[in-house]
Amino acid sequence: DQEGHFAVRVAPLTEELCVILAEDRTTAVRLEAIRRDFVTNVSHELKTPIGAISLLSEAVVEAADDPDTVRSFAGRMQHESARLTGLVAQIIQLSGVQADDPLLSPRRVEVGEVLAEAVDVCRVDADDRGITLTVVPGEDLAVVGDETQLAMAVSNLVRNAVLYSEPGGRVVVSARRRQEEDDSLVEIRVTDNGIGIAQADLKRIFERFYRVDYARSRANGGNGLGLSIVKHIAAAHRGVVDVWSKPGQGSTFTISLPEHSVDESEPAPGFADP
Ligand code: ADP
Repeated sequence: DQEGHFAVRVAPLTEELCVILAEDRTTAVRLEAIRRDFVTNVSHELKTPIGAISLLSEAVVEAADDPDTVRSFAGRMQHESARLTGLVAQIIQLSGVQADDPLLSPRRVEVGEVLAEAVDVCRVDADDRGITLTVVPGEDLAVVGDETQLAMAVSNLVRNAVLYSEPGGRVVVSARRRQEEDDSLVEIRVTDNGIGIAQADLKRIFERFYRVDYARSRANGGNGLGLSIVKHIAAAHRGVVDVWSKPGQGSTFTISLPEHSVDESEPAPGFADP
């Protein structure tokens, strides 16, 4: 009852008998469609700032005699090129994490340090926007993995919490231990009381380039890649990302990862085996 793609080959053995080889190409066809989609999206995203820079540079030449206009256009060119740099950096990050390869050298990572690092990166934005940013690191919590990637994932969530909140909003970043059947998990939680996300969009926000409000995302320097990076980093750490949100009330994103207990000095056995 599901659509599939098969490559069928028929090899005659005798006049009455033949061998039919059917290769299931469903996954390959689906991956190819995803890849094509990605390339189209990337080209579109790159074209916008490149087009703007090109037009602005023409305008600078035209306005050469008017220093104020030149300064204003040059400022906008700087803004667009910063955007371009950010986009390229995120595409590189995404291609680095989306292969879902096992992590190269997983180590014990202190969760408190991940939270501190992630919040540091967003502090200036939060202050500029009048958002109170608070960290409540759980005590002695550790996971196994790549500290830089984990900090990147958490900072993407904190960045969103800050950008999709109104001035005066509060963002709380915390971690706690959670028991799920026999597994001990570390739950990293980023909560805001910002604009929230409608139910219909919640299913799609982890898709690459998906944005609820294109204009707001763009104005904030967003490109719709942040959450897909978070999802891939969580998966590479054998974790999951969840979201709760209500328009007008705010959002809570959680990353749940297997805990690395304090007395283990080596990474959990078998961690690198997918
Ligand atoms: P972007 O670069 O647009 O922020 P993301 O992948 O990080 O891309 O997020 C996808 C979309 O999900 C955003 O465009 C935004 O509409 C929505 N979103 C993400 N986080 C939040 C949040 N904390 N509050 C409200 N909306 C959010």
